Amino acid sequence: MDTQNGNSDDRNKRSGFSISWIYIIIAIALGYMFLQSNDQSQDGASKRVPYNTFQQYVEHGYASKIVVSRDNNSVRMYVKSDRITPVFGTRADSASIKFYVESEFLSADKLQEFIDEQSKQGHFNGEFISKTGNNDGWMNLLWNMMPLLVIVAIWIIVMRRMSGGMAGMGGIFSVGKSRAQLVEKGNGSAPKVTFKDVAGQASAKQEVQEIVEFLKNPKKFTDLGGKIPKGALLVGPPGTGKTLLAKAVAGEADVPFFSMSGSDFVEMFVGVGASRVRDLFRQAKEKSPCIIFIDEIDAVGRARSRSAAMGANDERESTLNQLLTEMDGFGTNSGIIILAATNRADILDKALLRAGRFDRQIHVDLPDLNERKAVFQVHLKPLKADNTLDIDFLARQTPGFSGADIANVCNEAALIAARHGKESVGKDDFLAAVDRIVGGLEKKTKVMTEEEKRTIALHEAGHATISWNLQYANPLVKVTIVPRGRALGAAWYLPEERQITTKEQMLDEMCATLGGRAAEELFTGHISSGAMNDLERVTKQAYGMIAYMGMSERLPNLCYYSNEEYSFGKPYSEATAKLIDEEVQRMITEQYERAKRLLLEKRDGHAELAQLLVEREVIFADDVERIFGKRPWTSRTEELLTAAPEPEAEAATQNLTTP
Ligand code: ADP
Ligand code: ZN
Repeated sequence: MDTQNGNSDDRNKRSGFSISWIYIIIAIALGYMFLQSNDQSQDGASKRVPYNTFQQYVEHGYASKIVVSRDNNSVRMYVKSDRITPVFGTRADSASIKFYVESEFLSADKLQEFIDEQSKQGHFNGEFISKTGNNDGWMNLLWNMMPLLVIVAIWIIVMRRMSGGMAGMGGIFSVGKSRAQLVEKGNGSAPKVTFKDVAGQASAKQEVQEIVEFLKNPKKFTDLGGKIPKGALLVGPPGTGKTLLAKAVAGEADVPFFSMSGSDFVEMFVGVGASRVRDLFRQAKEKSPCIIFIDEIDAVGRARSRSAAMGANDERESTLNQLLTEMDGFGTNSGIIILAATNRADILDKALLRAGRFDRQIHVDLPDLNERKAVFQVHLKPLKADNTLDIDFLARQTPGFSGADIANVCNEAALIAARHGKESVGKDDFLAAVDRIVGGLEKKTKVMTEEEKRTIALHEAGHATISWNLQYANPLVKVTIVPRGRALGAAWYLPEERQITTKEQMLDEMCATLGGRAAEELFTGHISSGAMNDLERVTKQAYGMIAYMGMSERLPNLCYYSNEEYSFGKPYSEATAKLIDEEVQRMITEQYERAKRLLLEKRDGHAELAQLLVEREVIFADDVERIFGKRPWTSRTEELLTAAPEPEAEAATQNLTTP
């Protein structure tokens, strides 16, 4: 898998080894510098003297050691410790301290003769060293460069640290290497993925089928003069199987598959991203025909900002430019096809989407009922499920789930079954898994006072009452006041899977969301922090309806949506801004009043519901139905719900509201 060959163990050993060397070098250097400076501080006891003075000293027998450097014609005479006073006029405090005089001589031979003479006469019997000085020079040079070496060493360490446990050999030198994962036949990295493994997504599969054809049989297209596309963009929410689809294309066409995430290109060093792009394409050309898959391409491909001053990211832009250059650079027939995934095609740079680059967009959407069934079938295969399991039912209970969510449900169900020591995975385990994924783990231990419990029950009963009694609000499935995750209570609804939503539907939703706070105000006399989440959702929705969807009377048919990354200027005037704020406030107030009116109208039922919640902690749709009667309206999803085989059917779906 790792294209930089070199497994991680090996790599650790290597870097550990060199790092300890660097530490040793630094320690030596510091030690030496310490000694050196020590030395120099006491080295004041030296002086230069004329040659004949030097001769006199030696004749007087002051010399303990003489060192001659032939290169620069200088001689150094170390003074005997008991003769320091006559030479320097001071007393020596310590014999170990060096006192010496230096002098220049004209002829080395003469000096040699003189010293020999003095030794013979017994005036000098110390050590005599004569060097050509070269040695000394080198040492000096080395020591002078020491600080520099230390700085370089530190720099290397810092670089290593910054590049983290980077893949590849040679530490810092591979920063610019791409970190693409390579999947190909024969390197045993992963089992081959084929279209069989991708459930649903019929239209996306059909489109990528063509790409498989291009890779398998390019001649068929080029013979007719056609150009093979270079890239395709897979657009869709996370977890819908974009990566899976790209892998399947590679598997079907039986070509190598390079996979990399857009964020891998972006590093803190300037120029690294661009060089990684170059490296990726170089590797790909060697393996052609092949597929390059870039996940989350928006990390590099976001629209380049126009103003250089405002948050422009030069590194990202140069990476993007390099990517564009590479895409233009290889011929259409080189057998490389780039697939990229994003969940927001609208923020990508226009240059990326131009003809000859990612000119095809393939939409990969959340699975619908039948597709969810198919995804369940794929992921149930490895599980040991018992015969209580009904795939139809599971698919109906999971609207809005992505393929990855469903894979997660299956795995979680197996874990839950194992935790309960079961032989096989049953329906209850799946329902518990769905609940868990939607709402987090139940926290039975969170302590609540009776008063808090009552408030939360009133709040949740408020949501339930209103959503039951409004035509377009999502029908309720289950309400609980058992804390889950960070939420203190929750209500589950069965949202309708609809492609467009009308204004009436949105207003009913909003009214139901405000029902919690309205109930608190009416029946406890206080309002609490518990409604913050509800209010946040309502406010966002109201702004969306008014500023983006043109749904208010005073600002009809206007959309101020802007997809620019840094849009500091608003596309409307101050007066309009004020108008929007007023309209938002008016809309929310209207719905809040409506919620209060409805709650007062149904106050007995609401009180009963809240009481039931306090007692039982969890109530289901049939409890609500017993209190308020059957809803006079049926929706598509409700039909599905009533068709569900057993009463536990009302156990879960998404759309969690917190108190
Ligand atoms: P994306 O790239 O769109 O974020 P992935 O392809 O990484 O999503 O999907 C994550 C996982 O979810 C896959 O490995 C697979 O197990 C599961 N999955 C998603 N969609 C499907 C699908 N259509 N069929 C089968 N499994 C799917
Ligand atoms: Zn609420």
